[in-house]
Amino acid sequence: MAVKRLPKLPALLGLKISKTGQTRGADDDVVYQNRVNRSNTVLIPYENWEACADPKDGTGSYEKGFIVLLSPSKYFGNPKITEELAAKGLILGTNALVSYETREDWNENNPEVLGWSVATKRTAPLGGNYIARVPARTMKDKAKAKKVISGFHKTKPKGAGIRVFEYASKDTIAKCRLQLEALFWLCSDSDKVAVSNGMKAEDAATRKAAVLAQCKEAGLLDAERFSKARILNAQQNTICPLCLEELSGQRFFNRMEQAEGRNVPDLTVTQVNLFHIQELKTGILNHRPYNVGWGHHHCNVVVKDSGILETVVWMRDVVERNKAGGHFPVENKAS
Ligand SMILES: [Zn+2]
Repeated sequence: MAVKRLPKLPALLGLKISKTGQTRGADDDVVYQNRVNRSNTVLIPYENWEACADPKDGTGSYEKGFIVLLSPSKYFGNPKITEELAAKGLILGTNALVSYETREDWNENNPEVLGWSVATKRTAPLGGNYIARVPARTMKDKAKAKKVISGFHKTKPKGAGIRVFEYASKDTIAKCRLQLEALFWLCSDSDKVAVSNGMKAEDAATRKAAVLAQCKEAGLLDAERFSKARILNAQQNTICPLCLEELSGQRFFNRMEQAEGRNVPDLTVTQVNLFHIQELKTGILNHRPYNVGWGHHHCNVVVKDSGILETVVWMRDVVERNKAGGHFPVENKAS
């Protein structure tokens, strides 16, 4: 599936497409890994085990396995938890961990008092029974309120695994990359933009034709599916899935203007972002062909995880309330 022996894309665009195979950012205070490959070990909340046990992508299993995370109340609150886990094929320390996130849980069933070891591995056996990310708290007794970060905080990369909905197999990641590159080429001005960003005209033409052909052959260039998913318009040009405006290929190269007062340039923030079309739903992987597109950074921020349709309905209500309240700016308003 990889695009081989083709003229190279301009570096910034190549990087942008390549990065779509990575998960979102995560800081040290959470158990998730920060910007790693989507095919990494997935973390599945115990409540979602039934829905997520099978990735439902036709492969039957997660490429680098999974770890089920139980809350301390779930684990310690059920005297028959070991049997309950076993019935689901789960064993604490093998493919399941207790995950401490609150001070109360940490104090009530302190794993250090219990003589438990902290997990050290992402594959069975996990080397321990728990992981902890307990935030600090301002209290009189400072010793009790210190932040607890235990397990996978010193590993490279940090974090126990990725959010299950971000998972994609290596094959799916490659298909999405191919489809996302095709969507760049389907911007109406892509030829011109590729050249103005350093490609030779004939190289751009060669690569565009090859990528579109590969995509078509792999069943990844279905105009109707793209149009239904708000990824392409009727003219088969790439559009922003929220505002439906045609995207200029140049937007893939423009960096966001820095907010005033922020002088640390973020070289990765361009005007176009990876968009996942359907909102997050338990048990459904988000990163898959025909569910990925490109859209404005600002539109992506507005949609976040709440869904495009829900966002459009919310926008309509905002505008209507503003009109009703006399706050909507009217052009050429008589003075
Ligand atoms: Zn937009």
